[in-house]
Amino acid sequence: GDELAAQATDPAARIEALRREIEHNSYLYYALDAPAISDGAFDSLMHELRALEAEHPELIDPSSPTQRVGGYVGEQFAPIQHERRMYSLDDAMDAGELDEWLGRVEDFFGEIPPLVCELKIDGSSVAFTFENGRLLKAATRGDGTTGEDITVNVRTVRDVPLRLRDEALSAIRDTEEPIELRGECYMPKSSFESLNAAAEANGKSGFANPRNAAAGSLRQKDPQVTAHRDLSTFVYAVGDERKLALDTQWDLLQWLKRAGFHVNPDIELVHSAEEVHAFCERSLGRRNALPYEIDGVVVKVNSFAQQEAMGYTARAPRWAIAFKFPPEEKTTLLRDITVQV
Ligand code: NAD
Repeated sequence: GDELAAQATDPAARIEALRREIEHNSYLYYALDAPAISDGAFDSLMHELRALEAEHPELIDPSSPTQRVGGYVGEQFAPIQHERRMYSLDDAMDAGELDEWLGRVEDFFGEIPPLVCELKIDGSSVAFTFENGRLLKAATRGDGTTGEDITVNVRTVRDVPLRLRDEALSAIRDTEEPIELRGECYMPKSSFESLNAAAEANGKSGFANPRNAAAGSLRQKDPQVTAHRDLSTFVYAVGDERKLALDTQWDLLQWLKRAGFHVNPDIELVHSAEEVHAFCERSLGRRNALPYEIDGVVVKVNSFAQQEAMGYTARAPRWAIAFKFPPEEKTTLLRDITVQV
């Protein structure tokens, strides 16, 4: 009605309406693990907001969802400060946007530097803190600065090492200092299907997708519930790489394996835009055959020094990009809207 008409002519009103709609849906998604709209619909809201803010930079606000990591810190868990911020990733929605990012990297360094291609695991981000080689605590990403303490739940995830392997300790500069290792906790597709089937049989509503199922399982009050969920991890990052005697993302992945973590085997060190595209094509082709969900490919500048040189925006590193696959919405979503906020 009147409000929609006003938004059509008043960008400030439209921006405000989009921000409210995004915040509301982020709350349902991150805090309640129960989204009401599909990821595709959510992404188009963000896309429209980003475009409007780009057209009207005077309307950008530091509290806009475009300017921060879109998580949530619940009150039922103790807060944990991350060693360094946990960022989100900027998206490339198609090959053209991927090339734009590759172009920016090439302009920055004068050539395409070595890059690492990884699968983008569609799970929930977890930060694992180790001290003296032992798992001390685990946290969700939260708002990027502060996460939620889910240590007791993460301890039940069978492939999370409670102790790092001895052979890996020598690469830690000071083992007595806490060090934060990061990855993705996910629920395999088949486990998600059976969990939802069981919920349905009991007259309860299930999770919208494996990612929400993983996030919801990690954010249980009772660790016994988490222990009965089939969760696995892929670890791929360190909070502060200066704590390790390693220089590159590739070496980090090899080290994480030696330390006892599950590292995804589909990783590749590449040196050209063509190889990046080939990795994306191949991964998209293998997507349905994998036992877990992926929603894209993450491309990262390999050298930590080169990563630091490129730096970060308010919400994401400039040295990485998430090439997003087209959404696969075979899930039970409540309203798939053409948005009218
Ligand atoms: P994101 O999940 O798209 O990308 C960032 C995350 O990717 C990182 O935090 C990390 O956890 C993960 N990741 C997986 N594999 C990785 C790898 N190999 N290397 C590095 N990181 C890896 O971004 P986001 O900000 O967490 O969430 C946005 C997503 O959530 C979008 O897909 C959006 O549609 C969805 N969302 C949906 C709703 C909804 O209502 N449906 C609401 C909010 C968010």
